[in-house]
Amino acid sequence: MAVTIRSKREIELLRAAGEVVGRVLKRLEEEAVEGVTTARLAQISDEVIKDAGAIALFKGVENPDAKMAFPSSICASINEQVVHGIPGQRKLRSGDIVSIDCGVKLNGYCGDSAVTIMVGQIDPEKEKLVRITRETLEIAISETRPGRYWSDVARKMQEHAEGAGFGVVREYVGHGIGRKMHEDPKLPNFVNKELLRNDLLLRKGMILAVEPMVNIGTHRTRVEADGWTVVTADGKASAHFEHTLAITENGVEIMTSRE
Ligand code: MG
Ligand code: MG
Repeated sequence: MAVTIRSKREIELLRAAGEVVGRVLKRLEEEAVEGVTTARLAQISDEVIKDAGAIALFKGVENPDAKMAFPSSICASINEQVVHGIPGQRKLRSGDIVSIDCGVKLNGYCGDSAVTIMVGQIDPEKEKLVRITRETLEIAISETRPGRYWSDVARKMQEHAEGAGFGVVREYVGHGIGRKMHEDPKLPNFVNKELLRNDLLLRKGMILAVEPMVNIGTHRTRVEADGWTVVTADGKASAHFEHTLAITENGVEIMTSRE
């Protein structure tokens, strides 16, 4: 598995792309309130991306199982929807959690990030799900550093989510990112034989999109008839947090920060 090591100059370009993604998601965190449609959130995302002179990476992505290419600059996945939800006329309601995923390309380099937003009054179980999923990403951020194996990071992520009684999605995982949105390696948020056989030694200059997806119930998922929307097999809620990270001398820098 060849994982590209990025130069200081390339990391500057990745940081600039990541900043645009962070700006989109920060804005959508403010806009995702009761009564707003996910189509409106997508429209705001389009505007922020256009104003930055960037390209929306998700729009036009082909999928052999779907009738249409992905139509939007964001994925908006509500409640039991895990990832790849298509924005539309559905209005957010109090008690919903909505996972917004966004990717852009700027000057040839990519950024990818996701956040789960709580709308209005959230029941305690969903609130716990969102907190644990955010913490699972935070654990990856604090544990990722040169000289460590990815399986050691993934194990800590899995233990945190499963320790809370939740399921870690298996079919969708993190990834390398650079000139393309999806590059080697694959970064599972759990440990299995395949990862241990083909583990990744982390090195300075690697750029990783780390993205735990955590379910209240079963880790199993299925894809809806539109060919895109991934939902939990048991209909219980799911949350998703993602950052693009650059491995530094002794840790990581978050490329897609919303601060
Ligand atoms: Mg993403
Ligand atoms: Mg990603």
